[in-house]
Amino acid sequence: MCRKCRLCETRKNAVPGEGSERTKVMFLGEAPGEQEDIQGRPFVGSAGKLLTELLASIGLRREDVYITNIVKCRPPNNRPPRKNETNACRTYLERQILLIAPQVICPMGNSAIRSLIESEKSVTDLHGIPFEVGNVTYFPMYHPAAALYTFQLRKVLEEDFRKLRGLLDSVPT
Ligand code: URA
Repeated sequence: MCRKCRLCETRKNAVPGEGSERTKVMFLGEAPGEQEDIQGRPFVGSAGKLLTELLASIGLRREDVYITNIVKCRPPNNRPPRKNETNACRTYLERQILLIAPQVICPMGNSAIRSLIESEKSVTDLHGIPFEVGNVTYFPMYHPAAALYTFQLRKVLEEDFRKLRGLLDSVPT
């Protein structure tokens, strides 16, 4: 129903997010793509297939985690979301974080990282290194779509998921 920004004019479906409301970990992508727009569900296209496999590699199902994006509607032709769109959508993400209260948030890719923290650094510097903000641990990662284009990044993502497993095992429920 949202009409806070112009993405509402071109979307088929808003994609709020899905998963467990009682999870330790939230995954944050950039914006819905074509498949997500059609189905109203996050990460159901080719990047989503890889995300689902990476989760399975550390014993997690999609239903065990929460998956969402910084903007909830697809930008035309998958262009990056604009600042006014990210700002308009921000209250939804903030409320999701408050309600779900994950101990760990994994921003995937530069857009998601920069929506959470002010930093000049990029995902190349920040991935796989947890850091705390208040009582939440951020664990930045490459976006799974990046690994579809650059094969070596798949190994990096697999290694970061193994680190994430250790991190999740170390936080109390
Ligand atoms: N890429 C994203 O950032 N989010 C999705 O939901 C799908 C692809």
